[in-house]
Amino acid sequence: MVVVMSPGAPPEHLAAVVARIEQAGAKAFVSRGLDRTIVGVIGEGSRVAELTLAGMPGVATVLRVSEPYKLVNRQACTERSVVWVGSAGREVPVGPGTFTLIAGPCAVESAAQTLGAARLAAGAGATLLRGGAYKPRTFPGVFQGLGKDALRILADVRDATGLYVVTEVIDPADVELVASYADMLQVGAANMQNYALLDSVGRQGKPVLLKRGLQASVDEWLMAAEYVAQRGNCEIVLCERGIRTFETATSATLDLASIPLVQRLSHLPVIVDPTHAAGRRDLIVPLARAAIAAGADGLLIDVHPDPENALVDGPQALAGAELRELASAVRQLPPVLGRRPA
Ligand code: PEP
Repeated sequence: MVVVMSPGAPPEHLAAVVARIEQAGAKAFVSRGLDRTIVGVIGEGSRVAELTLAGMPGVATVLRVSEPYKLVNRQACTERSVVWVGSAGREVPVGPGTFTLIAGPCAVESAAQTLGAARLAAGAGATLLRGGAYKPRTFPGVFQGLGKDALRILADVRDATGLYVVTEVIDPADVELVASYADMLQVGAANMQNYALLDSVGRQGKPVLLKRGLQASVDEWLMAAEYVAQRGNCEIVLCERGIRTFETATSATLDLASIPLVQRLSHLPVIVDPTHAAGRRDLIVPLARAAIAAGADGLLIDVHPDPENALVDGPQALAGAELRELASAVRQLPPVLGRRPA
């Protein structure tokens, strides 16, 4: 069951709702969004609580939600959510009505390389900068990221370019540190079901970019998002990045159907990462166009000022002609679908 509080309901109304739920022997999970606060009710006492919650001061609606993901369920918010990234007064929206490009290097290698990539990204229409500080790789013994030094570089590049920073956190112990530099915390595909990490990012106030696991069903992905939301953070953007199938010609198989499907099942924004799905530069723009057409709220793209010499994933980084093609797709296609640049 989900209780949707009225916009602007005062804290004492919320406290009374939570107390009533707990008195009934159920658990209350409060998630405060920018527009509304919702309370997930879980446990044996939820039926009892349901009878007495509707009509309490500050309660807009009480909904029965049968799916195991309640707070991120579309039923909890009939309108799709917008997640705002960055500082008050100059936030970047991710969600319906707009289209957000997140771009930057796969890994932060140096200040010059990151600034170069950020300028390319901004030139292509990006408003958010991606860049990996911690890069656990399939092959041990290769470059694994600059860690804290990379976080400092990203923050400096944000100051120089105005692009807000999205970066991956892989260890729950690093969440506070990463959040002190980044504007949005990325949970990578390999960590989608790392519950300690989901718990930790859920307790942080920063928006979360949650990538779909390579072997995760849409339901499992939404349940991972529910973990974050149940810890109090509903500022979550989902990212489809391809799943593992029998096909080996690409890194992963981009599941385009998941975009409209997730938008029916959940109110959370969903963006697409064609870079890590394709794993090869020549397929990224066609997949990006398909993602926009399927209704994605944004794209996540690797760019690099010198892909041939990139320390990580050069063959999938855009630069030059391909980046210009991507920029033109991002400029031209979303407005046809009623979206303005974020
Ligand atoms: C990334 O975005 O840097 C990345 C490694 O992607 P994924 O977690 O989807 O593999």
